[in-house]
Amino acid sequence: MADRGRCPQCGSRELVEDAHYAQSQLVCAHCACVLSEGLLTTTFADEEHLREVTYSRSTGESEQVSRSQLRGLRRVKDLCRVLQLPATFEDTAVSYYRRAFQLPALRATRIQKKEVLVGCCVLVTCRQHNWPLTMGTVCTLLYADLELFSATYLQVVKLLGLDVPALSLADLVKTYCSSFKLSQASPSVPAKFAEDREKLVSRTVQLVELAGDTWLVTGRQPVPVVTAAAYLAWQSLRPGGRLTCPLARFCQLAGVDLPHPAYLRLQELLAVLLRMAGQLAWLRLLSPDKRTVVKHIGDLLQHRYLLIRRAFRERAERDEEGDEEQEEREGEGAEEERQPRDEEKGSDRPPGPQQGKRPASPPLLLPPCLLRPQKRPRPRSPETHITGYEDISDSELEQYLRTHEEVKAFQKAQAASQKAVGTSAPS
Ligand SMILES: [Zn+2]
Repeated sequence: MADRGRCPQCGSRELVEDAHYAQSQLVCAHCACVLSEGLLTTTFADEEHLREVTYSRSTGESEQVSRSQLRGLRRVKDLCRVLQLPATFEDTAVSYYRRAFQLPALRATRIQKKEVLVGCCVLVTCRQHNWPLTMGTVCTLLYADLELFSATYLQVVKLLGLDVPALSLADLVKTYCSSFKLSQASPSVPAKFAEDREKLVSRTVQLVELAGDTWLVTGRQPVPVVTAAAYLAWQSLRPGGRLTCPLARFCQLAGVDLPHPAYLRLQELLAVLLRMAGQLAWLRLLSPDKRTVVKHIGDLLQHRYLLIRRAFRERAERDEEGDEEQEEREGEGAEEERQPRDEEKGSDRPPGPQQGKRPASPPLLLPPCLLRPQKRPRPRSPETHITGYEDISDSELEQYLRTHEEVKAFQKAQAASQKAVGTSAPS
């Protein structure tokens, strides 16, 4: 901008405006160099005829849609149609793609990333409309690397400042279960394995909710949870003949992939159900195990809120009671205070091994990673009181320097290794 009034040829500042056939020109009075001709003054600060506007600086460029953007927009629309999304989704996804493309960080990236960007925009749109699309599905459709996808996804969400709700599990259950090939008997599905879709969905939703209430969902991949819940729901709807069918066979029958963590989720869910079964007197008499408890899932789910509350105790509740009790004991005669409370508990708690004077501490309701910590507890950093102003002795520094002998030995070793390389290399 500093040089705007200078001739590029001779450097003179004597620039004259000259009307040449009604076209204003800017001419150097010194060497007659024509600086600009037929001025385009359609753009920003160039109203004063001092410099011609290159096309790249004109406003036209930002309106122009590049070929890769056009391609991307077409891909967004294609993807929406392949996924059979409602028509309004397409517009939203397209507008996200346009916005993302305006960001230099996303415009000037590799072509793979632009391809992934297509999926990100569609995924964000689906999440915002509670449409249960998983990242895995998008990656499969785009042949995309999951890591690149998730990195780009996080980048897009951050750069565009989007608010993306979590995947809605109930919706995921519906789409996931509707992909099962179990709704009617077929050559590959025996009649006893066929199940009504509505029933299966509603029970699976309940089991997924149960898993969510008992900390089995948070921080985990959602699909394996749904797989395990669907399997249990399916077994419990007609236990006869289905109890012996393992999870892998179930997935094979239903025509879905078996995600590896589903086994773990299944065991965790069964453990929760067993705990709940322990709260029902008539069920406890049958002493169910992980296999037989499946028969009673329907009953357990009917009272799941109450059973969970009884089978587990929240940590806060327990600490509070513990504190109260101690205060009571320390204060006035605690016994009279405690007596009615125990009775109260006894009345709504079925009799059995669990019932003691002080209920034999029911397990805490905690995420499995806290109950079975596999990692070492975080080591405490040793407390130091170093200021950084301490003296450094010479002997302390000298131990980092090579002695004369060490220098000699190192040089010898270096020479030897160079010689070895020299002889082994073909010359
Ligand atoms: Zn000049």
